[in-house]
Amino acid sequence: MAQLIDGKKISSDIKEELRIEVQQLKEQGISVCLAVVQVGEDPASCVYVKNKKRACSYIGIESKSYELPENTTEEELVKLVETLNQDDSVNGILVQLPLPDHINEDRIINLIRPEKDVDGFHPINIGRLWTGEKGFLSCTPAGIIQLLKRSDIQMSGKECVIIGRSNIVGKPMAALMLRENATVTIAHSKTVNLKEITKRADIVIVALGKEKFINSEYIKEGAVVIDVGMHRDVNNKLCGDVDFMDVEPHTSAITPVPGGVGPMTIAMLMNNCVETVRV
Ligand code: NAP
Repeated sequence: MAQLIDGKKISSDIKEELRIEVQQLKEQGISVCLAVVQVGEDPASCVYVKNKKRACSYIGIESKSYELPENTTEEELVKLVETLNQDDSVNGILVQLPLPDHINEDRIINLIRPEKDVDGFHPINIGRLWTGEKGFLSCTPAGIIQLLKRSDIQMSGKECVIIGRSNIVGKPMAALMLRENATVTIAHSKTVNLKEITKRADIVIVALGKEKFINSEYIKEGAVVIDVGMHRDVNNKLCGDVDFMDVEPHTSAITPVPGGVGPMTIAMLMNNCVETVRV
């Protein structure tokens, strides 16, 4: 039987640890405040923002909400981010993505002060990640490292194949696995003979964005499989990039969807918020 990596439990453990830390910080007169900026009313973004604010409130982090209409101009958003950058009562700034098409996302991300970039998307934080300097880590990959560590899965010396090279998952994931001394390969849509490559891996991290794409033919017997994907199947049930029923019997450990990687992203966002005041 494969070990089921319980993201729900691990994420609530982390949130509980953070709640206690925030309480202790408050006793020393230190508070944490996150500014959450949303432009428009994309339904998925509304759910994410609501969950982030709920997590803040549970942990004791103050959240300031900026819900802007869809027709907000880029310059108006720039002004708001600049104001939040200057506001000493705001420790972290989160601009919910995606932004409407008429707003240049890169310009906004690059405008957030790196010291307040709790999503870890600013090029300075990405650079720090690759050079091994202290900086904010991208939340989903940082969450996966926690899942592996807290499930006692060894990374050092292991062959790790990451499928997907996005800026928010695949690339930072590779940097973090390298930091953990894994031997890392990144696969993508132009990769030839993907199965041969993934079959070598002790740890496979799947972030390719295609429902149940990875079946047991891609997996070495006894490998660890981390599924980042998030989809609704024909029955409107949540599922991942991995065909769980087919793959699970061949693994030593695997994350389910839901209840695997998903809950970790918010927990690590909360951790980054607390990190803004840690000395
Ligand atoms: P993305 O930006 O669409 O990137 C997908 C990556 O997969 C690309 O690098 C692409 O290669 C690669 N790819 C696509 N088809 C492939 C194939 N047939 N073989 C090998 N590689 C292939 O996606 P993302 O933002 O990284 O997200 C990936 C998945 O994770 C999505 O399902 C998303 O919903 C989910 N997600 C979940 C969380 C969470 O908190 N659980 C967070 C973020 C994302 P190219 O670069 O060559 O195009």
